[in-house]
Amino acid sequence: MDAIQLFAALLAQRGRVRSVEYSSFPAYDNLIKAGLIEEFSVVSSMICDECDHPHDAKIVFEGSQYGYYCPQLGFVSKPRSELIAVQPNLSAFVSQVADALDCKRRKSAPLDKDTWRIGAIESTAGDVVLYLHPTLQEARDLRGVQAALASEVRSPFGVILTSSGTLTAPPFVTAQLDDVLSFDSKAGKLSMVADVRAIAGVPEQRTGGRPNEYERPLSELIALRASQGRALKGRNVEARAIIVEFKSQFPNIDCPSLPTVQRYVTKIRSGS
Ligand SMILES: [Zn+2]
Repeated sequence: MDAIQLFAALLAQRGRVRSVEYSSFPAYDNLIKAGLIEEFSVVSSMICDECDHPHDAKIVFEGSQYGYYCPQLGFVSKPRSELIAVQPNLSAFVSQVADALDCKRRKSAPLDKDTWRIGAIESTAGDVVLYLHPTLQEARDLRGVQAALASEVRSPFGVILTSSGTLTAPPFVTAQLDDVLSFDSKAGKLSMVADVRAIAGVPEQRTGGRPNEYERPLSELIALRASQGRALKGRNVEARAIIVEFKSQFPNIDCPSLPTVQRYVTKIRSGS
């Protein structure tokens, strides 16, 4: 399980779960360090798996020991280390995604109980707004999203990120976390691996038949920086650096917009 899959698995639980069930994955520590998941004191209950009939059991602290009562086995003691709770930190997650996309109209608190607005990015056809909802599997999830969106400024395009489930709230599109995000464990940061505007259905801008003057010099500049080892790791920062270099090298050619340059960087990096 990579970091995004692990984060999504925890998000899908919609509450605190025992860290011991997830902490053996290498990505666990990276997510903790990045502040994307948080550990808490002991869980309030767990599933008893020591008797013949798995059942939910309330954790109690008795005679200096943690444990629970099982109808079959009586008091079952558990070391505290096996009872530590873990949960995604959605406020941190939302703000890191907003950073990765350089979003405006960010919101650091949920719109209602479960729906978060990450922020908005501009496109040629209007703003694309990003939201997060833990799961979109049941009618109840969808009702929650729709209720939260009702008080939002209308936008023609939007993407709702979720850990699992494919229900949609048109005109917005639902996207799975691990299809659009990746986690750089060295930098401890999230980055976008998909074009949010394209996912949201923003139509590609037509160039009116005239070939893009910038296309060739831009592609060559991106490749040159990469071959000289000057390319910056983050797509955003690299695109910004390219724009600066492009303008100084080709003052007579209109420099394309940041999203366009980002698209070219992605295209050339992926080798297509
Ligand atoms: Zn039991």
